[in-house]
Amino acid sequence: MHEEEFQTGKIYCANCFHCKLLPGIESDVLRIRCTAGKWKKRLGQEKVYKFCTITRRFSDGCEDYEDMGESTEFIRELRKSINEDTSHTPS
Ligand code: SF4
Repeated sequence: MHEEEFQTGKIYCANCFHCKLLPGIESDVLRIRCTAGKWKKRLGQEKVYKFCTITRRFSDGCEDYEDMGESTEFIRELRKSINEDTSHTPS
């Protein structure tokens, strides 16, 4: 499987204190939210994302970013565990 590049110089929401799993499971799909309220829909409502997209949430900067540590290895391991998890999911 093609490994996505780590974007040097970008910040990853997955490595931010504010990126959290949504409490409670309303469906069988885990979702994440930004507790700093940065993820919004066009009309201003909060936007949440599927957990499996977490490593794709990165940007040039965020004023509320709170670094949780070294991100290169963390993002790599997170991608690996997500890929392993989805490959074992029954279709
Ligand atoms: S505060 Fe910024 S970096 Fe942190 S999760 Fe929200 S959008 Fe991402």
